[in-house]
Amino acid sequence: MSASKDDWRRRGQERYLRGARLTLKRYQALSAQWEHEHCAFCWHKFLDTQYSETHRQAVEERPDLNSAEGYTTLGAQDRPAGKWWICRRCFEDFAAEFEWSVVKTDPGAWPYEGLEPNPRPTAADYTPPDGPSLPRPE
Ligand SMILES: [Zn+2]
Repeated sequence: MSASKDDWRRRGQERYLRGARLTLKRYQALSAQWEHEHCAFCWHKFLDTQYSETHRQAVEERPDLNSAEGYTTLGAQDRPAGKWWICRRCFEDFAAEFEWSVVKTDPGAWPYEGLEPNPRPTAADYTPPDGPSLPRPE
């Protein structure tokens, strides 16, 4: 498969994704507040199924809208690890044109720059962006 010149998913991604080295990873919440990502092309959603039961169910019930894994960038100059995520369908449609190469890595390993938080963030760590956090039920 390849995408046509006027494909609706195009938004100038070649500026930052041409020639990228990608790896297939389980999507993981970057922090308690940043728990999803979108495909850089089609806006398909990536959810961390270990973040919350709601997230797990969303992937299970609507795999057409949500995925638990996708292709993401390996760290490189001007291209931080885990910054962009690409769904399987868009990967197939754009891989040849964008000249992506795929590097095999541990799909469960921390996909981002920097040290892996331990434990990894989940919904239990979430605090609202404004105001003090409410006491959590025991
Ligand atoms: Zn996509």
